[in-house]
Amino acid sequence: MAKLIAVVTGGAGFLGSHLCDKLLQEEMKVICIDNLLTGSTENIAHLFGNEDFSFIKHDVTNYIYVPGRIDYILHFASPASPIDYLQLPIQTLKVGSLGTHKVLGLAKEKKARFLLASTSEVYGDPNIHPQSEDYWGNVNPIGPRGVYDEAKRFAEALTMAYNRYHGVDTRIVRIFNTFGPRMRLNDGRALPAFVGQALRGEDITVFGDGNQTRSFCYVSDQIEGIYKLLMSNEIEPVNIGNPEEITINKFANEVIELTGSISKIVHKELPLDDPKVRQPDITKAKKVLGWEPKVTRSDGLKMTIDFFKKIISPV
Ligand code: UDP
Repeated sequence: MAKLIAVVTGGAGFLGSHLCDKLLQEEMKVICIDNLLTGSTENIAHLFGNEDFSFIKHDVTNYIYVPGRIDYILHFASPASPIDYLQLPIQTLKVGSLGTHKVLGLAKEKKARFLLASTSEVYGDPNIHPQSEDYWGNVNPIGPRGVYDEAKRFAEALTMAYNRYHGVDTRIVRIFNTFGPRMRLNDGRALPAFVGQALRGEDITVFGDGNQTRSFCYVSDQIEGIYKLLMSNEIEPVNIGNPEEITINKFANEVIELTGSISKIVHKELPLDDPKVRQPDITKAKKVLGWEPKVTRSDGLKMTIDFFKKIISPV
C-alpha cells in the first residue's frame, strides 16, 4: 500500500524536526518545509538520505507549491521563543497570518487534514488557573508578546473559518512550554539559558523575583500528544503540556543541582507582560486522546543537559 504523505512546515525547528522523526517512524513520507529563519538543517541532518524524507527551503508566507498528493499538513512554522519574536516581530505576525492562510490554502487544494501548532500564549497572562480550553485569555495586543499571541489567535480563527466555510479537516493543538534536545542554546528561553549558564559556571539569570510559574513538558510526550490529536476527530483546540507546575526559582535550582554546577542565581528585570502563572488543564487531552505525559521533569532535564553538554564541549 502507498505510504501516507505528510508536510511539516517549520520542520527544521525544535518541535518540527521531532515531528518529522515521529511521522517517519509511523511509516509516512515526510516533506519538510522551512525557511531556516530560526530552524536549522542540523536538526534534520540525520534524515537526509532517507528516501521517505525531503526538504524544501521555502518561506510559507509566499505561495506554496507541492506536487502530488498530501494527506496531512502540520503547520509548525513560526518563531516561538520570546527573544525570537521580539527580534522578528513582523516575520512572526506574517507567518501566523499570511503563512497560515497559504498553508490552509494548500490543505484545501489537496484535501489534506491540517493541524495548527497554537500555543498557551493565546491565554496571555491568564486570570484563570490552570488554563482550560474554554478560557478566552488575557492578551495585551500592543505589548511585545502581542505579535506572537495575536498571530496565533488569528491563526486559530482562520483555521476554524476554513473548517466551517471550506470544510477543511482541521485540528488545533495549544502547546505549553516544552523542552528537550534540539532546543537552541541561545533562543533566550529559561531552560537553554539556565543549562548553558550552569554548564559554563556563569550566573543564572532569573527574571523578576522568580516566583512566576511554568509547567515544562518533555518533547517526546509533547510529540505523542500532537500525533494522537492528529489521528483523533477533535476539531476544537486541545491543550498539550505537562501540568506539573514549578516556580522559575525552583526550576533554576533544579538545573544547578542536576548539572552539579557552582553557579549562583542573580535576578534581572522581568520582561513586559511575562505571564505570572502557567499550567495546562489537560482534562480534555486525557478524555479525548487518552494522553498524559509520562516523562518526569528530572528525567527530561537529564536528557536535555546531556544534549547541551555535547554542544558546549564537543569531544
Ligand atoms: N526566564 C528567566 N531567565 C531567562 C529566561 C527566561 O528567568 O534567562 C523566565 C521568563 O521570564 C519566564 C520563564 O523564565 O518567566 C519562562 O520563560 P521562557 O522564555 O522559557 O518561556 P515563556 O513561558 O515565557 O514563553
